[in-house]
Amino acid sequence: MALVTSALGLTLLLKNIVSTAGYLFFYTAVVASAWFGGKWSGGFAVVLSTLAVAYFFTPPIYSFRITRESLPLFIEFAASSVVISWFSSYRKQTETALAGARDELQMRVEERTAELKRTNEQLLAEMAERKRAEDAYYEAQAELARVTRMSTMGALAASISHEVNQPLAAVVTNADACLMWLSSDPPNLEEVRSAVDSIAQEGTRASEVVRHIRAMFTKAAPERVRVQLNEVIREVGALMSVQASRNEVALQIELAEDLPAAIGDRVQLQQVIVNLVLNGIEAASGVMDRPRRVAVKSERTGSDEVLVAVRDSGTGIDPKDQKRIFDAFFTTKSQGMGMGLSISHSIIEAHGGRLWASANDDHGATLQFTLPIDHESAA
Ligand code: ADP
Repeated sequence: MALVTSALGLTLLLKNIVSTAGYLFFYTAVVASAWFGGKWSGGFAVVLSTLAVAYFFTPPIYSFRITRESLPLFIEFAASSVVISWFSSYRKQTETALAGARDELQMRVEERTAELKRTNEQLLAEMAERKRAEDAYYEAQAELARVTRMSTMGALAASISHEVNQPLAAVVTNADACLMWLSSDPPNLEEVRSAVDSIAQEGTRASEVVRHIRAMFTKAAPERVRVQLNEVIREVGALMSVQASRNEVALQIELAEDLPAAIGDRVQLQQVIVNLVLNGIEAASGVMDRPRRVAVKSERTGSDEVLVAVRDSGTGIDPKDQKRIFDAFFTTKSQGMGMGLSISHSIIEAHGGRLWASANDDHGATLQFTLPIDHESAA
């Protein structure tokens, strides 16, 4: 209504100044009403404009009557008003619908993006959780292996040191007494003789203890069954694979086909191979400038022996330690017990075989042992 009234005012005003103004303002009012108010508002503007035009501008002026001459002009105005009103409201409707669809689309895209973000965050959290659990599992496993080794060896070491300490303490006490009797004036040689006697006795006792402990490893008669060493090596490979990959060491297994069986104690032989592979992995873990590798190989040598070699690309054995690595308690590792090679050596000897170490041509060391074959299975 306000728009049509303004259009009327403007048209009346401008009619006297510019004759070409025509009905432009009425059209504008109709378009604006239909645009902002919708089709009902547009229709109302059409009716009002038509009435205003009929009353003010179509002869006879100031009357709603329409003469025959002005009828075509009046109809043209009314019809074009209706058309532009409809068109304007239609355009407005389409645009509103389009804007609505766009808003909805945007909302859905935002919702979906947020959902994807949430899923992604959940996935990342799950992955981090799984990684943590995996790390904890590996750590627990490594710790378990270390504790098992340490506790067995620790208990053994404690009992050995307890057994050996007593005679050694007696030796020291008697030696002190000996010095005292020798320095008295005149020296009491009788007492000195008896102290030296005691020293000899205690020394013999200590060496008996050591011999006895060694006998525990060597004399315990191993079980004597047929052992397929290839199977044992495969089992050890599976057992050590986690340890190897944790240390980024490639564990390779090269088995000779138709390897004859050996005779012996399966568990003890497995223990030997575990020790050698573990040492290889530990040695290889120390290198940074070349691939870390441990290869376990089996082969038949000569007519009556099988050979198992564990070759690593590690730090190698210091030549000055070469002779001592099979000694009990010899270790160069901060956490080492120095028992692995000593026990392995005893086991292989008890099986009638031989265990030795050698330096590789390039890098690292090879520890290998031979065992007599079971002639029945070889035949
Ligand atoms: P531990 O592993 O507890 O030290 P071992 O008796 O198994 O005890 O080994 C004794 C020592 O021999 C090690 O500390 C190490 O110095 C040396 N050794 C054994 N295997 C290897 C190897 N593959 N490469 C280099 N050194 C080795």
